[in-house]
Amino acid sequence: MGAPEIAAAGKVVLIHYTLKDEAGTVLDKSPEGQPLPYLHGAGNIVPGLEKELEGKNVGATFDVLIPPKDGYGEKSGPGPQAVPKSAFPKGANLVPGMAFRAQGSDGQDVVLYVAKIIGAHVHVDTNHPLAGTTLHFTGTIVRVREATADETAHGHPHGPDGTHHHH
Ligand code: ZN
Repeated sequence: MGAPEIAAAGKVVLIHYTLKDEAGTVLDKSPEGQPLPYLHGAGNIVPGLEKELEGKNVGATFDVLIPPKDGYGEKSGPGPQAVPKSAFPKGANLVPGMAFRAQGSDGQDVVLYVAKIIGAHVHVDTNHPLAGTTLHFTGTIVRVREATADETAHGHPHGPDGTHHHH
């Protein structure tokens, strides 16, 4: 109350957005009536979009082109590697774009993405599916609220009102 509703570090910001690639193909979109909540400053969204939204008011619109380095990164590494499906837990719901954690050769946890599934092999990649893609985000800031103590501790929002409990 009274304080300006501005997207800033530590606030939960709700946005309606559409993400397109440079050719104008819609890649992702917030569902009608369900704006995406994110915790500002916590790396929940790509750096370029967070930077664009910083300091904007509720009701402000955005229309920004984000190069890969401020999005999901440039493509790097050797590209997708084939792994037998049998290396995954039985019943794992493997779909392209899915992220999972694995142990790298140096023993460090790495995030891998399912690039494609061909026959008995899952092709996995260290690159996010949108690595190397210029992102075109348009949308509106719908709401800004204070983060709850739990949300601040977890580094992500718990639903639109901070009341959605999980794991
Ligand atoms: Zn949480």
